[in-house]
Amino acid sequence: MFYYSPMLLGLCLLVAVAIAATALWRMSRPYSGPGFWMAGSWSLIAGILMFIGFIITGNPALNVLGNAGQLAGEALFLLGIFRFMDRQIPWWIVPLSVSVMVAFNVHYWLFDGNSDFLMGVYSTIAGLLPVQAIWLLLREKSDPATRPARLLVGFSLLVYSAVTLVRGYLGYYNWWHDAPYVNPYESFSYLLPYNFAIPALVMGFIGVTLMTMQRILANSQQHAQRARLSAIRFERLLGASTSAVMIVKAGLIQDANMRLEQLSGLSRERLINSPVQTLFPAGSHELINQHLAISHTSLLDLDALGARGEPFPAEVSIARLSDDSDDVVMEIRDVSHRKALEEQLVLLATQDSLTSALNRRAFNNEAQLALTRATRYRRPLSLAILDLDHFKQINDTHGHLAGDLALQQFSDVCRITLREGDIFARFGGEEFVLLLSETDAAAAAVLLERLREQVSALVLRHGTSSFSLHVSAGLAEWQPGDDLDSLFKRADQALYSAKSNGRNRVVVWSEGLESPTPSTQSLS
Ligand code: GH3
Ligand code: MG
Ligand code: MG
Repeated sequence: MFYYSPMLLGLCLLVAVAIAATALWRMSRPYSGPGFWMAGSWSLIAGILMFIGFIITGNPALNVLGNAGQLAGEALFLLGIFRFMDRQIPWWIVPLSVSVMVAFNVHYWLFDGNSDFLMGVYSTIAGLLPVQAIWLLLREKSDPATRPARLLVGFSLLVYSAVTLVRGYLGYYNWWHDAPYVNPYESFSYLLPYNFAIPALVMGFIGVTLMTMQRILANSQQHAQRARLSAIRFERLLGASTSAVMIVKAGLIQDANMRLEQLSGLSRERLINSPVQTLFPAGSHELINQHLAISHTSLLDLDALGARGEPFPAEVSIARLSDDSDDVVMEIRDVSHRKALEEQLVLLATQDSLTSALNRRAFNNEAQLALTRATRYRRPLSLAILDLDHFKQINDTHGHLAGDLALQQFSDVCRITLREGDIFARFGGEEFVLLLSETDAAAAAVLLERLREQVSALVLRHGTSSFSLHVSAGLAEWQPGDDLDSLFKRADQALYSAKSNGRNRVVVWSEGLESPTPSTQSLS
């Protein structure tokens, strides 16, 4: 009997399929579909086991449950296909097919029905169930990666469906013609499913396994492609960056872009695995270490070492590559150009471009500080206003360029004569001011007299002509209660006196000096 037992063979095949489906479900998570196929195959096996139990014991309940289990298994298998293809799942086919079969099956036992007819009903339900899925599998055009396996599943189910419907037809035929009862072992219609339908179903299972694998493969190829593109993009990004970028792990450089090689003058081979400190002067090593250890992004303004080992001003950013790794991205941007521009801007904002003396605004700021100091500590402080004599004539006689040259030379002489801490500014035209800290009027007068003599001794040459230059100066010493304005006013009075008394002289302000007429400009 076992030798001719297609049922046992079919059952063994289905057990193998169920085990394979379970393995597929475990391995392919989180892909959707295999869960249904696993549940369907085990339900089908449970149904067949109950049917075998019914044949052995004759218990009608086992017959009803066996048929229900098999149909439910088949329906679940089909639901898996809809799930896999991301379609709306027709849940209703499970209760509908099971309940119709159970109704007929119970009726058969209660009213002693015809077994051929019941088989016809079972086969009709089982044969029609896959139609929707077959239609979907064979017609679906999208997702070309899984199409070959989809066609295999579709045709397998088509064979299963056709064989099952033929079996149903045979059932109705025998019932209609009142055919005599045939032992299932010898009945063609009973053997049909085990010889043809179950192999087709097994084929279908193999097909869905292939379908899943094709999808996994296609997805991993896609991922690999995306990872490759992203790596290329990362490389390009690093290459295109105008900053030196490196990946640092445990203080060692792991990867670096071209810009870092250029900036540090070190080859890639030298850079990789060297401590990141190599790129900075020793003074900043501790600071770099501290910032490598913290998890948030930091931005530092410090010097880095250039190609010849010389420090250059840099902007350094340190950021963790991701929350769960120790890798750090460090970026070094050479900001020497910007720093130079900033310095230039400061000069432009505070200096006179022709003579490099301070401008009026910068002078006022510094003078205010000096005055505050002098007031607080009661230290002597003197202010001198210097005005070149008959400067208009120099311009008129020798040209404007010669005038410019004279202004520059005068400034140079002043700078040479002055001491550190003295504040020298050009207030406009050919007028200059001088603030002398820690200097009383007498000492300032000596200094100014020396300056006046040096200026007078100058012989200026421009083109073929040569000429001399003279300066008049008015000097005032700070007195208690003075502010910058009042100090200026007195120095101006002294200057006026110097001019009106023949020029080329230094006059120290004293009580009773003649005041300038209202037409004389105020300097402060
Ligand atoms: P005084 O002895 O009374 O001071 O006579 P002055 O000619 O020096 O005085 P005045 O104020 O009449 O003339 C100042 C001249 O300085 C007029 C102006 O053309 C010239 N000047 C002002 N700024 C510049 C400059 O930047 N370059 C040149 N070359 N000349 C300048
Ligand atoms: Mg003047
Ligand atoms: Mg003048």
